[in-house]
Amino acid sequence: MTDSNPSPPAADEISPACSRIKSNLAAVHERIAGACRLAGRDPAEVRLVAVTKYVDAATTAATRQAGCLDLAESRPQAIWEKAAALAEAPVRWHLIGHLQRNKIRRTLPLLGVLHSLDSLRLLAAVEAEADPTEIACCDVLVEVNLTDDPGRSGAVIADVPALVAAAAAARGVRLVGLMGMAGHPDAAAADARRDFARLRLLRDELTRSLPTPDLLRELSMGMSGDFEAAILEGATIVRIGSALFEGLG
Ligand SMILES: *Cc1c(COP(=O)(O)O)cnc(C)c1O
Repeated sequence: MTDSNPSPPAADEISPACSRIKSNLAAVHERIAGACRLAGRDPAEVRLVAVTKYVDAATTAATRQAGCLDLAESRPQAIWEKAAALAEAPVRWHLIGHLQRNKIRRTLPLLGVLHSLDSLRLLAAVEAEADPTEIACCDVLVEVNLTDDPGRSGAVIADVPALVAAAAAARGVRLVGLMGMAGHPDAAAADARRDFARLRLLRDELTRSLPTPDLLRELSMGMSGDFEAAILEGATIVRIGSALFEGLG
């Protein structure tokens, strides 16, 4: 007789998706280590944030199981859904896309890091929602539009000093750094590197005007196609999506 009830998978069994993500993750970590060697930096200074915007909740759970505790989404709604689906696992959620003001109340309590503070209006709205009993709601990075192209996200460079000063003084947010994207995803590595250098120089310049230098210690820059250039220019957070999901069905 054959058993028509195969035993359920053991709770700690690794799914094919998880093992694929694990090996992709190992390859990315190796490249991070290589870029750090070139830059004379300690790889422990560079945190990998896994961007799960392309994959469903099950694959996001597999990403968490593969060892990524820092997960990022572009849309607040995706964080609402996935935070509920992954409620059992400790996850630090990063929002890397625009936060509409009408979504602040529901999103803020779920967030570990907001990478996309892009206007004084958004800052005021976040401050108004932040829990007054908390010292600070979440870590916040000011998103900079490095190319000043109006079609791209982030505050234009001319507006960044005032936004950084306001965020540094704001109650209920903990300013930790700047975020930016290189101009063109397909551009030469040299172009990306020049954009990342611009963010680092802006950070260094603004830091001189701040009461404490560590308010801009984080530089969130670099994606699958350009994270090595970003590390050479001082990235402390790289946001990696597609490179982690290569080869998944
Ligand atoms: C999608 C996205 C990423 C990840 O991009 P990949 O090229 O897939 O690694 C990083 N940062 C932001 C802001 C994104 O929107």
